[in-house]
Amino acid sequence: MKQKYDVAIIGSGPAGASAALKLAENGISTVLIEKEILPRYKTCGDGFVYRGRRKLPFDISSVVKREFNKIQINFDKAGIHLTSERDAPIISMIMRDDFDNLIVEKAKKAGITLLEGHALNDISFGETNTLHTSQGDVYAKFIIAADGALGKTAKITGWKETRNLIPALEYEVEVSPEDFERLSREVRFDFDAVPLGYGWCFPKQKHLSIGVAILERKKIDLKKYYKAYLTTLGITTPISEEFHGFQIPISPRTDGFVKKNVFLIGDAAGFADPITAEGISNAILTGVMAADSIIEGKLESKKSTEIYESKLAEVLLPELKTGIYLSKLFYRNEKVRHFLMKRYGQRMCEEMTNVFMGERTYPADIKKKITSKLKSALFSKFKL
Ligand SMILES: Cc1cc2nc3c(=O)[nH]c(=O)nc-3n(C[C@H](O)[C@H](O)[C@H](O)COP(=O)(O)OP(=O)(O)OC[C@H]3O[C@@H](n4cnc5c(N)ncnc54)[C@H](O)[C@@H]3O)c2cc1C
Repeated sequence: MKQKYDVAIIGSGPAGASAALKLAENGISTVLIEKEILPRYKTCGDGFVYRGRRKLPFDISSVVKREFNKIQINFDKAGIHLTSERDAPIISMIMRDDFDNLIVEKAKKAGITLLEGHALNDISFGETNTLHTSQGDVYAKFIIAADGALGKTAKITGWKETRNLIPALEYEVEVSPEDFERLSREVRFDFDAVPLGYGWCFPKQKHLSIGVAILERKKIDLKKYYKAYLTTLGITTPISEEFHGFQIPISPRTDGFVKKNVFLIGDAAGFADPITAEGISNAILTGVMAADSIIEGKLESKKSTEIYESKLAEVLLPELKTGIYLSKLFYRNEKVRHFLMKRYGQRMCEEMTNVFMGERTYPADIKKKITSKLKSALFSKFKL
């Protein structure tokens, strides 16, 4: 007899695994479908900000490699170097295979079925949906698409591509003991390292995760900027470099988040932060949100859909909208950026840290305020 689940989740990253855990804890029959065998590698800087960590209802210290209570933000071209410090870890360094698998293991203990090595290929939609995987069919009423930036569930269901997908490169770099000692004291972000983007250096236990990303879709030789960034960091001869590239969606879809009982969460929906491209915390947030909506909607399609849409509209979408505006303002005009940083750098650095800490979000009504302030302040200076 074929087994039918209430919910099938595609993808076992932080979004899918968190949704699975929440559903299982509430007694909803759930299958988690993952194309890889777990634990699997995921291209990521592996920096988990405190706003995500503080909300987790379980301890993750077993998978935390290092914790940083201090961050460094640099604008080299303007000679601006800022630091911000807190009592709790602003960024925790994890390895995504261990971290994601920790949540999956918790969901398994809570009662989900994990089908690893099963790639979703297609869906036949109906009262009960049939999910065609590489290893046979699976049946479920609801589907949660947590298959990341390049997953196919949204496309199969009928979504168009409306997210802003940006490229990012990440290198696992082994350096000399002297370089490691010098560069492993702090997490650093370098905003002049890439036009329209930034470079980061995240120290792990024995190596550095060094990356570059451009926050707008544009033809650019990111590898060239990575090489130049190594020079900025004072690394002349890395002992080894392991290269990974992938995409991050830094704007939400514009054609909705639920269709045909398919709920989009995490990168599949486009929920990474528009300024930092940090995606783990919103992946977890929206995974839990979608699960809560199905639970609160008592497995009723219309009700569950409405609840998810209203939670997103209330909690996340206004913040992302402001983030997109601020991101354009910040990255597109280097002169404006340096001008703002010279005047308000430390304050902005502290506010960004407060966002990382989950102590505040991007303010929803900032556009008008900034535009009028900028117009009057910059007009005379730059003839804008
Ligand atoms: C270079 C780089 C650096 C980054 N650094 C950071 C960082 O430091 N901090 C941070 O917070 N974010 C970072 N991000 C973003 C972060 O990695 C993502 O936002 C986050 O992983 C999104 O989680 P998710 O669960 O939505 O998707 P994912 O983590 O991508 O998980 C999707 C899962 O779906 C599975 N899948 C895909 N297709 C199918 C299919 N057809 N069938 C079954 N399973 C499938 C995949 O195998 C995968 O396990 C970075 C991203 C990149 C590219």
